[in-house]
Amino acid sequence: MTDQYTFADPSKLYSDITTKAQSQDGPGLDADLSSKADLGEDTYRGLGRLVGRKALITGGDSGIGGATAIAFAREGADVAISYLPEEEEDAQRIAGLITAAGQKALTIPGDLTDPVYCRELVAQAVEGLGGLDILVNNGGKQQTRDSLDEITDEQFDETFKTNVYAMFWITKAALPHLKPGASIINTSSIQAYSPSETLVDYASTKATINTFSKALSQQLAPKGIRVNVVAPGPIWTPLQTAGGQPTEALPTFGEDTPLGRPGQPAELAPAFVFLASAESSYVIGETLHVNGGMPTP
Ligand code: NAD
Ligand code: MG
Repeated sequence: MTDQYTFADPSKLYSDITTKAQSQDGPGLDADLSSKADLGEDTYRGLGRLVGRKALITGGDSGIGGATAIAFAREGADVAISYLPEEEEDAQRIAGLITAAGQKALTIPGDLTDPVYCRELVAQAVEGLGGLDILVNNGGKQQTRDSLDEITDEQFDETFKTNVYAMFWITKAALPHLKPGASIINTSSIQAYSPSETLVDYASTKATINTFSKALSQQLAPKGIRVNVVAPGPIWTPLQTAGGQPTEALPTFGEDTPLGRPGQPAELAPAFVFLASAESSYVIGETLHVNGGMPTP
């Protein structure tokens, strides 16, 4: 059976998944993505690397967060996911896959730009899971704009609230519950290193996430809590079809990477599993790039 350990040419993987021009409203759904992305549904094989852990993943309904939720569950973790109410369909699908792996799934919808929800999210996850060991700040907003002029104050505010403020609110609320051995993983982007001219606000949030993570990692290491970052390159997710890229750019999405193709969410999950598990005990303040080979500093 094919799984994430199958020996294969990475430049040839996923040639059956196409990224044709399409557009979605709101946050977008995996359910409406064409072709469907691979979240590892049929391939991720767990080895018990997270047995007994309790994880909270924001944006765990779809894309990278969804693939990570599936992987965490198959590694033996109970998982709570956060998402917007209009993403219920995607969230229920992921919850079903977590449950099918024999683990507890919690679905906690709400808006990450609201600090009250962010604090409530942590409280509900801790209550429902009976504690918290892994926090993945992954929810994010990305809207392409040709000029600075077109970035409204509202968009700038929402992008920073979703990508940066929510990470601050949630991490702060989670800290009193995290014991030594816990892991915090934040989701950055290649955009922090090689920003597109059309993603000025988004790319800025990702650089902020990097620096926030490096600073906090030093503060929390002596307490036995590790903070690390995953920095994806171009990955086939609803975010890209819901205004993240210009529609006409989708057919060639990811082709400018050394691998010559976009990545699939399933290819991100093992990076999160590694940073969440005890096998990365001496890895702190690190950024794990999963970007098809694009050079980073
Ligand atoms: P995605 O759309 O599947 O996931 C993003 C999630 O963010 C959504 O599912 C949604 O639940 C959540 N979200 C957005 N706004 C929210 C709000 N106001 N309240 C609550 N939840 C909200 O797309 P993805 O690409 O898997 O994104 C996951 C992370 O990966 C994001 O941080 C994104 O910036 C980052 N990333 C993605 C790529 C890529 O190419 N897809 C590249 C680099 C980084
Ligand atoms: Mg989603």
